[in-house]
Amino acid sequence: MQVNAAIFVHQAALTPEIPIFNVFVKGARCGAFLDSGVRTLFPQLRQLPVMAGVVDERVRYLLVTHPHHDHIGSNRQMLATFPNLLIGCSPWARNWIADFAIHWREFGARYPEIIAPTPQLYEELMGVLDGETEPDLLLQEGNEIDLGGGVLLRLFDVPGHMPEELAFFEVSTRTLLIGDAIPGTAWTIFHGYLAPAKLRSTLAKLRRLCRDLDCVSIILAHFGVLSPAQFLDLIDRTELAINQVDDLLLETLRQAREPLRLEELWRQLCLKTDKQQEFRGLTMVDSILKLWVSEGKIRQVGPDLYESWSASQSASARKG
Ligand SMILES: [Zn+2]
Repeated sequence: MQVNAAIFVHQAALTPEIPIFNVFVKGARCGAFLDSGVRTLFPQLRQLPVMAGVVDERVRYLLVTHPHHDHIGSNRQMLATFPNLLIGCSPWARNWIADFAIHWREFGARYPEIIAPTPQLYEELMGVLDGETEPDLLLQEGNEIDLGGGVLLRLFDVPGHMPEELAFFEVSTRTLLIGDAIPGTAWTIFHGYLAPAKLRSTLAKLRRLCRDLDCVSIILAHFGVLSPAQFLDLIDRTELAINQVDDLLLETLRQAREPLRLEELWRQLCLKTDKQQEFRGLTMVDSILKLWVSEGKIRQVGPDLYESWSASQSASARKG
């Protein structure tokens, strides 16, 4: 699908409930892919520059928003097909793209005592990747990528879903291109976020950018092509959903008669919100608890044990 003079989008179903939208940007001099989807999508993504009339030698960039497996799965095939391709990503993303042992350890195998890192889970996650690649460019906010003919990508940092993530504003068509900086909150899994405080700042920043840049359309990897009004509404709904997660976690801690383990808090949250008990949600809950401990909002009373201040006060009152 051609969205405007510079932007071409391919849509597919990642899972029955989650779509994936991949973007190709065409300039007068060269073109750029944003993210590479999963391994099996490559034959279809490969058609985007063909549709745009950009020859393989001029497909110059593969710009990675963030290194989750459904965003870097065709990197090897892209490198093998486009002879002048440069891969760009944020500095933090490098290890997950270039070293799958680190990727697996920090992703699916992060809590082996709670979620067994089975061969099935390995295959589900890492099986969608076609191979490790070494990024050529480490990118950050303030960088610009000129594709020629006025087609220019301005980069913005949008962390939260991951410790670092990049968004791209295409100046000539006023299109904002986003990976997962706004995580899915209405699915049967928690899409999740590793940096909850940064996510809140990013949501506020995206609301501001949409207005300040006078965006015409916003394209997100799992929500597709949105108007500014639809985009602002999505941000509002996302903020409500992350507030609800915070409220439910705090309520569980306050009502507990004794300190609770990460695993118990995560399982109760999934039950209360009717979500699958899955590793992404576990990482999210762990990140929220660690933030709250650092802010003094709750207490950590063991290596993996948490309680709310009000719970600890009522416990000491009971003892007194
Ligand atoms: Zn992601």
